[in-house]
Amino acid sequence: MTDDAGAALLGPSVYRQLRQLVLSGELEPGAPLSVPALASRLGVSRSPVREAVQQLIYEGLAVNVPHAGARVAVVDDAQIRNVLSVRAVLDGLAAAEAAARLTEADLEKLGALLAVQEENLRDIPDAARDTELDLEFHTSIRDCSGNHTLIGELARLEAQAHLYRGDLWTRNRNRHIAFREHRRIFEALECGHAIDARTAAEAHVHGLITRLDRR
Ligand SMILES: [Zn+2]
Repeated sequence: MTDDAGAALLGPSVYRQLRQLVLSGELEPGAPLSVPALASRLGVSRSPVREAVQQLIYEGLAVNVPHAGARVAVVDDAQIRNVLSVRAVLDGLAAAEAAARLTEADLEKLGALLAVQEENLRDIPDAARDTELDLEFHTSIRDCSGNHTLIGELARLEAQAHLYRGDLWTRNRNRHIAFREHRRIFEALECGHAIDARTAAEAHVHGLITRLDRR
């Protein structure tokens, strides 16, 4: 097997592992993404790690610092507001487009995700788990929109939002409010009501901005 063929096989999983390390905060914002060090940490060759780092840069989860190499991106107070204000509009659009296209199976999947989120609220906040569940919920909705331009843009914005290291995601009160907002989006989608779905999705992200300001 050539190195390239190996990279093709290993690529997606190395990328997923690296993305998880970044989103869970194990690799903190600003941490160097050294290809040799990560290759030995993950027990893989350098080529898939190099590709994964490039993918993270494309997604906005990493940045290339001249003369210093790639680092995990830092999303500060100013950036998180920019990311969320754009996300509010695009999330609204995704929910409206999804409302018109959702199947019974999609709704069942979303309902099941919501149930897992509710269950998770009983546990103490776990940033990695909460991130995973939130991303899964929003990813499922935007995938239902069938709009690939939108799906690509939102995937980046949402991942970047989770790089923010304030207590926006982990504060217990915030987790409960976010869950209720998710439920309202789901109820609008269940009714197939595009305008309500857009309003609920926008309100969720505006809620995140409000909670950011209220500290
Ligand atoms: Zn959410």
